Amino acid sequence: MQRCGQCHRLVFYPRELCPYCSASDLTWEKLSGRGRVYSFTIVRKPSIPSFRSLAPYVYAIIELSEGVRLASNVINCLPEEVAIDMPVRPVFAKAPSSRTVLLFEPDPAPTKKPLLASG
Ligand SMILES: [Zn+2]
Repeated sequence: MQRCGQCHRLVFYPRELCPYCSASDLTWEKLSGRGRVYSFTIVRKPSIPSFRSLAPYVYAIIELSEGVRLASNVINCLPEEVAIDMPVRPVFAKAPSSRTVLLFEPDPAPTKKPLLASG
């Protein structure tokens, strides 16, 4: 994630200028990736046709341990197992577009065989 060299705040999403002080000296910093579920919903009927085969899935706001919040999915557990404040860790997955996407799974990971969000 980017960090501002002037005000030292983390910046997300990536930008040319710091949104807090307008400085341009943003540098990349490696984060733990660990966090907690800040909020979530279980999507059962996606409005986007290409997401329908994935339902039900968890759309969540994750608060990283460094304090930044971002939107993602929680996978490798049943949607009904997700809860507010649940610890999560990052999972990098290939999307059908072949792009790498950042998802999250329970931390510690479930001991049973992982279930993908697509079920
Ligand atoms: Zn700044």
